[in-house]
Amino acid sequence: MTQITDLGLCQLPLAALQLPEGDLIAWVAVGAAILAPLFTIILLFFDRRSISRKLTMLDEAVRRTASAQQRSMEDAEPWEATRERVVLGNMLDSFPEVTQKFVKVANIEDLGRTLLSAFGRVLGSKKGLVFVRQGETLRLIAREGVSETECANAMKVRIGEGRAGYAAEKCLILSYGDFAQLDRADRLRIDQSERLEGNFDYYIPMIYRGRAIGCVVVGGIGRVINKARAAGMAVANLGSLVLTSILRERQVRTLSEQDPLTQLSNRRHCYELLAERMEAVQTSPFAVFLFDIDNFKSINDEYGHAVGDEVLRQLADVTRDMVRPEEDEFAARVGGEEFLCVVGCEDVAALAARLEDFRLSVSKIVVDTGPDAGPPAVRISGGVAFCPAEEDDADALVRIADDRLYAAKKSGRDRVFLESGPPKSRRPHQHQQK
Ligand code: GH3
Ligand code: MG
Ligand code: MG
Repeated sequence: MTQITDLGLCQLPLAALQLPEGDLIAWVAVGAAILAPLFTIILLFFDRRSISRKLTMLDEAVRRTASAQQRSMEDAEPWEATRERVVLGNMLDSFPEVTQKFVKVANIEDLGRTLLSAFGRVLGSKKGLVFVRQGETLRLIAREGVSETECANAMKVRIGEGRAGYAAEKCLILSYGDFAQLDRADRLRIDQSERLEGNFDYYIPMIYRGRAIGCVVVGGIGRVINKARAAGMAVANLGSLVLTSILRERQVRTLSEQDPLTQLSNRRHCYELLAERMEAVQTSPFAVFLFDIDNFKSINDEYGHAVGDEVLRQLADVTRDMVRPEEDEFAARVGGEEFLCVVGCEDVAALAARLEDFRLSVSKIVVDTGPDAGPPAVRISGGVAFCPAEEDDADALVRIADDRLYAAKKSGRDRVFLESGPPKSRRPHQHQQK
């Protein structure tokens, strides 16, 4: 018998099974036959686990994809929304340029044009009208895409009248369709006024502190977007801020330059205008005409201050009628009952005749003093100085005119002196060059 320790390693199972040594191949076959199903079972077991893991992963991936698809379907915006977003984006892009134009606006007419061009940029409007409020009326200040004859009917629209007037009265932005939703009474009121401003897309009031100070109407809108109202209101708000600033500026200027009783220039503004006028004196000589009401104190004493004020107002009206602003002439109230006019004087004789006519017009002023008293006699005395013939300094020029005014008073009042001392005859004034 072979010792177990002498056996090779491959001989061990044979030895264990006590099988003959030479039949190795048969033993291998037997082993393989026993082990092969075992391996197959083991392999199948592991494979199933990996397949099931793979299936689970696949399942998860499918679920993830499905929920992502679901989400993207939920997030997807309709075409209108995409377009609106693009339009709004473009609109926002245009805002710096649009607002910059508002910052540069110099006057009301300029504001009207700027508003219409802004609505063109922002809403793509093809036509429009801009109104500015004056008391209870909207005054047309700018138009686009509408001919002058077409808007002849809409030059002035009362607040509450027509569509623009209604939007201004109610401080509401209204589309054309909105008017159909109004109360019957309001609809009738609007329909009764057959105005051109009935055929637009939007009626947008310019509101400041709860009150409409103007109104913009726009039509032919190219960009129909949900935010049109909001965008329109934003542009109108800009307009209302600029309009308020222009009106305030105008108000401040008026207060600082105008005499409140007569609405003529005040003394301060008079000297500013005179200085300006002197700059152009070499090409266009002029005269300073200073005049004062005769015995005005006794008018006040006899008729009262209110009648005195009315005399001043009427005298201012006659004076305003005499001067020609288109020829750089102006009139100012420079003292209580003292006025100064700058008048052209190419021809001294013609000026003398013109001032004589003026003096006569003043003497025709009739102030209503009631049934108990006849009207006061309104008379003036005046003096004239010539620039540059006599003086080219404003103060000196006014002093000469004042001296002549004083001389006119002394020589009996109710007259105008164009030279020192009473005029010798009605002849052209021969003033000397300095
Ligand atoms: P003269 O012919 O010399 O100019 O005499 P006068 O009475 O017109 O001149 P005076 O300077 O003595 O009086 C001017 C008066 O004008 C006195 C003043 O009460 C009056 N006056 C000044 N400003 C006003 C005003 O705004 N309203 C009214 N009603 N009177 C005024
Ligand atoms: Mg006087
Ligand atoms: Mg006086």
